Amino acid sequence: MAAKRLFLGSHLPMRAPDSYLGTCHLALEYGETAFMFYTGAPQNTRRVPLSRLKIKEGRSFLADHAFPESKIVVHAPYIVNLAARSDPLSAEAAVSFLVDEFRRVAGFGLTTLVLHPGSATGETPQEGIRNVARGLDEVLERDGTNVRIALETMAGKGHEIGRNFKEIAQIISLSKNQGRIGVCLDTCHLNDAGEDVKDLDGLLTSFEETFGLRKLLVIHLNDSKNQRGSHKDRHENIGYGTIGFSTLEKWVGDPRLADVPKILETPPANSIQTYKKEIAMLRSGIYDPKWRDRFL
Ligand code: FE
Ligand code: FE
Ligand code: ZN
Repeated sequence: MAAKRLFLGSHLPMRAPDSYLGTCHLALEYGETAFMFYTGAPQNTRRVPLSRLKIKEGRSFLADHAFPESKIVVHAPYIVNLAARSDPLSAEAAVSFLVDEFRRVAGFGLTTLVLHPGSATGETPQEGIRNVARGLDEVLERDGTNVRIALETMAGKGHEIGRNFKEIAQIISLSKNQGRIGVCLDTCHLNDAGEDVKDLDGLLTSFEETFGLRKLLVIHLNDSKNQRGSHKDRHENIGYGTIGFSTLEKWVGDPRLADVPKILETPPANSIQTYKKEIAMLRSGIYDPKWRDRFL
C-alpha cells in the first residue's frame, strides 16, 4: 500500500548535548514527517553558536531516513515584536536579532521562519501593521539568505496584530518584499479570533481570494480550550477542545493542503509522547476516545 503523502509533525525541543541531532531523532520516534523548533529559548534572544548544535549530524540522520527538510520550520522567539516601535532601541534590537535568526535558519539548511506579527502596545493597530511591514523590510534589506517568513494568524489577545486575514494581507502589501512573506495558519488562533475552522472550504476560499493558496507555508494544528471568538489563545490536545477531531482530521486530509507542513503545538500531558499518539490518530483517521487519560 502506498503511503499517503502527508507532512505532519509537532513542535519539538532542541536540548544539549544532542541538540539538533536529538530533535531529529525525536521526530522519527514520533512518526513525524514535518516538525518545528526554536533555535534557542523562545522567551529570550540568547543563542548558542551553530557550531555546537550538531547540525551536520542531524542533517545526515535526516538524509539517511529520506526526511524532507523542506517540511521543517523554525519558530522565531515570541518576544520579538516588530509592531511596537515607540522604543527605537528595542526596535533596532528586534531587527538585528531577526537578521541573525535568518542566518541561523539558513545554517540548518532550512528556508521557513514562523513569526508572530507582534503587539501594538503603544500605537494604533494601523501603526502596528505599518511597523511590522517596515521592520520586515529592514530585516530583508540586510539579509543574504533565501529564508521565507510565515506570518502567523493570531487569536487577537490584547493588542495582537494579525487577528484576521485582512491585517496579515495589509502587512504583506505594505512590504517591498512580498515574495518572501507568506502565512502560517494556526487552527486554535483562527477559532479564538472568531473564524469558523469547521468550514474549511469557506476558509480556504477566503484565503485563496486574499493571498492565493501558494502563500500558505505552514499550518499549526491545535485544538482550542475556548469557544470561537474568545480571543484567548489556549491550545488543547486533539479531540479535547472546541474544534474536535473530525475537523482537524479534515485539515490533515485535504488534498489542497497536502504539501503544507502541519505542526502540532498541543499541550504535553506529562510527556511529549502525546504527540506520537495524536499523530497516529490523525494519520489513521481513527479517534481513540479518552486517549489522554493514559498520559495523565
Ligand atoms: Fe506561534
Ligand atoms: Fe501557533
Ligand atoms: Zn498559540
